[in-house]
Amino acid sequence: STQEKTPQICVVGSGPAGFYTAQHLLKQHPQAHVDIYEKQPVPFGLVRFGVAPDHPEVKNVINTFTQTAHSGRCAFWGNVEVGRDVTVPELREAYHAVVLSYGAEDHRALEIPGEELPGVCSARAFVGWYNGLPENQELKPDLSCDTAVILGQGNVALDVARILLTPPEHLEKTDITKAALGVLRQSQVKTVWLVGRRGPLQVAFTIKELREMIQLPGTRPILDPVDFLGLQDRLKGTAWRQSTMLTEVPRPRKRLMELLLRTAMEKPGREEAAHWASASRAWGLRFFRSPQQVLPSPDGRGAAGVRLAVTRLEGVGEATRAVPTGVMEDLPCGLVLSSIGYKSRPIDPSVPFDSKLGVIPNVEGRVTDVPGLYCSGWVKRGPTGVIATTMTDSFLTGQTLLQDLKAGLLPSGPRPGSAAIQALLSSRGVQPVSFSDWEKLDAEEVARGQSTGKPREKLVDPQEMLCLLGH
Ligand code: FAD
Repeated sequence: STQEKTPQICVVGSGPAGFYTAQHLLKQHPQAHVDIYEKQPVPFGLVRFGVAPDHPEVKNVINTFTQTAHSGRCAFWGNVEVGRDVTVPELREAYHAVVLSYGAEDHRALEIPGEELPGVCSARAFVGWYNGLPENQELKPDLSCDTAVILGQGNVALDVARILLTPPEHLEKTDITKAALGVLRQSQVKTVWLVGRRGPLQVAFTIKELREMIQLPGTRPILDPVDFLGLQDRLKGTAWRQSTMLTEVPRPRKRLMELLLRTAMEKPGREEAAHWASASRAWGLRFFRSPQQVLPSPDGRGAAGVRLAVTRLEGVGEATRAVPTGVMEDLPCGLVLSSIGYKSRPIDPSVPFDSKLGVIPNVEGRVTDVPGLYCSGWVKRGPTGVIATTMTDSFLTGQTLLQDLKAGLLPSGPRPGSAAIQALLSSRGVQPVSFSDWEKLDAEEVARGQSTGKPREKLVDPQEMLCLLGH
């Protein structure tokens, strides 16, 4: 059938999920045509707007995505917000199949009093701010305080702590925005606490990120040995097994725990001791603390601290829960960053959405009860996992789609693809940004970074981007 010959497929979102899904489809089907729709004028999702500026090597995946975009059977349509500029039913009409890969753009709220105070923001917004995400450029966080509290103990929390504490001159040669670097240069923040409801065994960050924190120039770790008592035996002995319900300790977690233990309990070596003794900044992990309220400053115009409930653990393994002991504790600070997770939004009333889990309900990437509709990445699995996880997951969705195509489960007969959508967009006054347009913006950013030795100076204003393109 025609669709078997030239399937017209579109992908919504140009982060890792969108690009890896497209890559799989193009590679495994020699005729497939893939259009990628993206709401930002620029591609790559969290690779551009999430990954920390001091981790440039992570962004090398952009080279692979660029190769995909250069395929003659792939097109990028930026500056098109699906759900606003064009609807999912319209896309389904125009294509044989639609893959939703639009990520997780919201943050999970703390849902505690005081959350709305100035001086409280989501780690998501803070990350967006220093990475040049247009909607977060007005954030201008107030870093005139001495202490910041980050609620959460995952890799995003560590990214934020690291950016707050890194000597600004070490960020000068990264792609952090000029505005963010300026604010960080004036920062008075000396201490950053990362607060978790559970204990050391439940931290969500990984060893590479922890090691970076321990070695951060001019900064020393504050770990309370009391939190780690007994952990050593548990690591080795049966208690660990009972506590995790695993017959064997997963190696990466064991290594992570060992590094935490060493840092907390052992005397540092000469070099490390000297580094920590001369440090003017510090970061620390506060375990078994659950945030109850953000305390207002006396004038009510900012945050003065966080009220924490002391917790203890109940249950075993994955089901380990933190329950309050009744003891409260106030942790003074002037800045509160909540880093308890991202969350997907529903995109269109016609697309099922599980608001409890924050994902599109699906089986192996097939959206439940909507033939021809698929999903991949964070909107499919939930907002966890690194780019490599997202790649595997997206290849699987691509595979599912091609199986359905082969089995004749997708609409038969030709579909107009982008021609129909371009007509709609143009009637609505929407002017898409192509991949070669992006390459012009890319060249402009690289040129603007050159004078200061940065890999690029990101454009942060969509109007300016469109203007540069003559739109
Ligand atoms: P996203 O990357 O979010 O892509 C979704 C895309 O969809 C975005 O471009 C968005 O603009 C677009 N979109 C949204 N809504 C619409 C719409 N309505 N219409 C059209 N387009 C839309 N992983 C690592 O391996 N290493 C790291 O160092 C690392 N650092 C991270 C740091 C942070 C702060 C975060 C949050 C994540 C980090 N990750 C890292 C994880 C990695 O970013 C994710 O695994 C990956 O980006 C998920 O891919 P995705 O395509 O599902 O979502």
